[in-house]
Amino acid sequence: MTKQERQRRMHELDEGIRVCVRCPLHKSRTHAVPGEGPVGAEVFFIGEAPGGKEDRLGRPFVGPSGMLLNRLLETAGLKREEVYITSCVKCRPPNNRTPHTNELNICQATWLDRQIDLVDPSIIVLLGRVALQQVLKDQRSLRQIHGEVVARDGRQYFLTYHPAVAFRVPETRDSMEEDMALLKQLLATQLHAARK
Ligand code: SF4
Repeated sequence: MTKQERQRRMHELDEGIRVCVRCPLHKSRTHAVPGEGPVGAEVFFIGEAPGGKEDRLGRPFVGPSGMLLNRLLETAGLKREEVYITSCVKCRPPNNRTPHTNELNICQATWLDRQIDLVDPSIIVLLGRVALQQVLKDQRSLRQIHGEVVARDGRQYFLTYHPAVAFRVPETRDSMEEDMALLKQLLATQLHAARK
């Protein structure tokens, strides 16, 4: 599929997400938040769900967590405009509660899996417990496995905390910085291997 065709399909997905009513979360949203970034991005970030500012603006990671994510991207040697960023669910849950299993499953099958296929990244960064449990069905604690790479079904996943955790547990921020330094090394190794 040409890049132009992938872009066209991504645009169609975005439009579909904006009017989606497949799960109950559509009732509590102001705007659905499809995701942002180029098709063909090397790195694909998956958070949990839009928060208040994301819901108002219809854009991912633009609130306080997004500001921290931007700084973490710098540590990883990445520019925001070169990565793809989205969440497990595209609509804000009421009072920012954790998305329910049925909401996560419907949104993944309907939208997230298709976004991943279209972008076809080299590495997927799972931000936080909900993304880890939903995408990899992995129940382990991030305290033990953050910074690890997991290979599954032909894709590579990098595990780290959700930026929002750093506001509740400040020491997590140091761990996230360390994880992003590891991600930078991993990407450099991959790029080096790809150029050989
Ligand atoms: S969370 Fe996903 S599946 Fe549910 S209404 Fe929003 S876009 Fe549709």
